Amino acid sequence: MRASKADPLRARLTRGESRSHETKRCAAKTRKGTPCPNRAMTGKTRCNFHSGLASLAGQRGGRRRARYSAEDLAPITPPENSGDVLKVLSQVIGEVHDLRLEPRVANSLAYLSSAYLSALQVADLDERLKALEARHDVLQKVRGGR
Ligand SMILES: [Zn+2]
Repeated sequence: MRASKADPLRARLTRGESRSHETKRCAAKTRKGTPCPNRAMTGKTRCNFHSGLASLAGQRGGRRRARYSAEDLAPITPPENSGDVLKVLSQVIGEVHDLRLEPRVANSLAYLSSAYLSALQVADLDERLKALEARHDVLQKVRGGR
């Protein structure tokens, strides 16, 4: 999935980097007590790291790097009808939300579900068409017999 363009954290981090030609230094001090050597973010007195945004980004990174294990997943029975697909999809939604299922696996399942439903629709139309053709044949024979 694409990162949202409206992501305020990303926008702020990017802005701080793209205008790095400005020479204003960060007003914060390092753990050793020496002045922070980083450039302050545009319009700010502190750098990315000391503004607290970096720790936010770190938290997000930590969440993104969630560990997935196949053992945490409930088994899925291959679907045989649209109702089964619905069950699988609702299970997948819950597992992605709980960070049990990798989003790229979920994307794949969503794609396959969509393909499955399309195939189901074609198969259904095919069946109905065959029924109509059979009825048509019967009508023709009745008319021909008169
Ligand atoms: Zn700093």
